[in-house]
Amino acid sequence: MLSVNKYEFWFVTGSQFLYGEEQLRQVAEDAQVVVDKLNESGKLPYKIVFKDVMTTADGITEFMKEVNYNDAVAGVITWMHTFSPAKNWIRGTKLLQKPLLHLATQYLNKIPYDTIDFDYMNLNQSAHGDREYGYINARLHKNNKIVYGYWGDTDIQDEIARWEDVAVAYNESFKIKICRFGDTMRNVAVTELDKVEAQIVLGWTVDYYGVGDLVEEIDKVEDSAVDKEYHDLQKHYTLVQGNNSAAEFEHSVRVQLKEYLGIKRFLERGGYTAFTTNFEDLHGLAQLPGLATQLLMRDGYGFGAEGDGKSAGLSRLLKIMAHNKNTAFMEDYTLDLRKGHEAILGAHMLEVDPSIASEKPRVEVHPLDIGGKEAPARLVFTGSEGDAIDVTLSHFANGFKLLSYPVNANKPEAETPHLPVAKQLWTPKAGLKKGSIKWIENGGGHHSVFSFALTENQIDDLAKMFGIESIVIE
Ligand code: MN
Repeated sequence: MLSVNKYEFWFVTGSQFLYGEEQLRQVAEDAQVVVDKLNESGKLPYKIVFKDVMTTADGITEFMKEVNYNDAVAGVITWMHTFSPAKNWIRGTKLLQKPLLHLATQYLNKIPYDTIDFDYMNLNQSAHGDREYGYINARLHKNNKIVYGYWGDTDIQDEIARWEDVAVAYNESFKIKICRFGDTMRNVAVTELDKVEAQIVLGWTVDYYGVGDLVEEIDKVEDSAVDKEYHDLQKHYTLVQGNNSAAEFEHSVRVQLKEYLGIKRFLERGGYTAFTTNFEDLHGLAQLPGLATQLLMRDGYGFGAEGDGKSAGLSRLLKIMAHNKNTAFMEDYTLDLRKGHEAILGAHMLEVDPSIASEKPRVEVHPLDIGGKEAPARLVFTGSEGDAIDVTLSHFANGFKLLSYPVNANKPEAETPHLPVAKQLWTPKAGLKKGSIKWIENGGGHHSVFSFALTENQIDDLAKMFGIESIVIE
């Protein structure tokens, strides 16, 4: 399974010298308690480290420079325990190149009516301190996250946790390398990717290789390595011979496992974590990679079919955000337009990610009517039920746009005995009609990333970090 660096987040508390040394010591102590309790909550995927109480412009500037420089730090969390004159924050905040979360909270979750006095008020000024600080972030167009509420509440801790995942994905985005075997499917518009723009805005490196380079790598895969994968496959999935002879079935599966290992070695050698294939460009390959691609997606690799580099990068990015869980490359496949049944059936020719399966996937071998190659082995399964989101990345002359909607995910009403592919049914929460019109109006493509693990807010936060447009259809 692909993994990411061990990141941490740095936490600083804003204050000033006006109230004396004792108050500053108390601010530091309280901040340490807040950070300790957040870490102990068990909700945060990445540790928070309390660094300091910030009282001067020079200190804040030095701190932000260190954050930028340190690769282990994914972002900054700030809290204004007292009033912190925000002119102090201008230079440092302008220099900050990593995600920023303003935790607008207060040490106590109530007003202590019986004991409150001016000493208390000198120390606890979040109510107005957050406004002063937030003004500068707004004026600098930081697009930072604001989490508002009591730091000890579980919903607030969840918000911080989900933002951490987005911030780490943002950091990792600048390391994503996409390997495109062949070009985009001929004549198709919506899957086209501007490689230079993707690198400038999203940090992705997008490289092309002729499929012949890949065939060379696949041809080098040893039979013993394929044997081992075949054994693993039998452990994790149900092998269904169907109408094939035993020899035909095993041959087809072994071809896919050889492609799986060959692609994986090729990607590892170049440091790639996402890839595309194109059924129009399979010269020298015995089969369109089906099972091969599905196993790579299971391992955490991003993927886009028909040369779709945008979906390849986006699926890798969202898999990072989702810790490789329940997040899959998807395509709008066919529709149920009957009143009361309105839904989209999502699938692909072969390449549906088993991370969303609700049952043990079956390995099956069936002919494919396009591509003119051998019958490919693929994983067949039914998707899951529950709340999910569907996301796509569109590109226009004026930039990238993340388009998404929350959906109700369901299982198909019946089996499809003559369509042996993995399937996921869903209905946009906005309704099929309204959701689809908005999607089409905004130029959203048919390829998307479908996730049971992520939320609309996270997609919106991600778009803000990149400074790109986000359309949430609700
Ligand atoms: Mn497709």
